[in-house]
Amino acid sequence: MKIDRKSVIQTQIELSNLIGVPGHEDEVAEYLLVKLEHLNVDKAWIDPLGNVLAIKEGTDPNGLRILLDAHIDEVGFMISHIDDKGFITIETLGGIDKRLMLGALVQFQSETEGRILGLVGASPPHITKPEEREKTPDTNQMFVDIGCKSYDEVREKGLDIGSVGTFYTECTQLNDDTLLGKAFDDRTACNVILHTLEHLKDKPIKNTILINFAVQEEVGGRGAKVGAYSLDPSIALALENTIASDVPGVPPQKIVTKLGAGPAITAADRSLIVPKKILDRIKKAAEELNLSWQYKKPTYGGTDAGAISTNKSGVPSGVISVPCRYIHSNAGILLVDDILKTIELVAKFCQI
Ligand SMILES: [Zn+2]
Repeated sequence: MKIDRKSVIQTQIELSNLIGVPGHEDEVAEYLLVKLEHLNVDKAWIDPLGNVLAIKEGTDPNGLRILLDAHIDEVGFMISHIDDKGFITIETLGGIDKRLMLGALVQFQSETEGRILGLVGASPPHITKPEEREKTPDTNQMFVDIGCKSYDEVREKGLDIGSVGTFYTECTQLNDDTLLGKAFDDRTACNVILHTLEHLKDKPIKNTILINFAVQEEVGGRGAKVGAYSLDPSIALALENTIASDVPGVPPQKIVTKLGAGPAITAADRSLIVPKKILDRIKKAAEELNLSWQYKKPTYGGTDAGAISTNKSGVPSGVISVPCRYIHSNAGILLVDDILKTIELVAKFCQI
């Protein structure tokens, strides 16, 4: 199976650099809708919640209706206060480790001026008490400095309470096989779906493929729920970017997944117990490709598959993830080969 490696890398860079925090995913949705125009789907549209949905009809009216879901939002934050000196207070959208916030470069989406850069600061260490220096302040005790001197100056830049932002990190190729960037959770799986469709583009396949590029996963699988309702799948895969904890200081039993070992397959997590028939179907696809894969250690996190599996009278669902170090932070690191293998596996899953 030949997947265009250069196109996968280029798409990963483009998707990573877009901004799409929960409830504000328009930039990503528009990008994906344009991409879908060239991928031979029969129908593509944006639903009232902002999900990008698509249908590629199968040749067999009795074939399966397979849903592929990837969320398009990323962790970020919302402005909760602007003081009269122009300092901005934020609340997080989705789970961000607050230890990573201090000193981070961030960007806001302005109403009028595109992107506004800023730096997350806190009171200088020499004026804080020793016990305070030992612990990380809460996110709402930090502030973002965008170089403005007053409340009015911030407002003139097109920012207000409710404006949103995320980390500022340019996606970078570190070497032939390694990428660093923000929002790999879950733009990586958006990339996987685009290239799966590219691969299936000119092949008549019996199953109908349903796509949900879903909004608001990081705040609780909201887009997945309504998307599954509209598309009415018979089985589903949530495609994800998951924790690779193959770093110093982590004992083997705590390594959730590792880089370079191929797609990570979930047996169970907080939101879902994967039915045996779905696991068997994934393993059969991998076997037919002679492709290496790994289990994701059960119980960590939840995904859109949880919301999809309880749609209507129930949808047998699984999860396949691309491993990534440092997810939910200002930058993650992953391997192109793991993305390529995941595309192969998902494309085969759709065809058997
Ligand atoms: Zn995710």
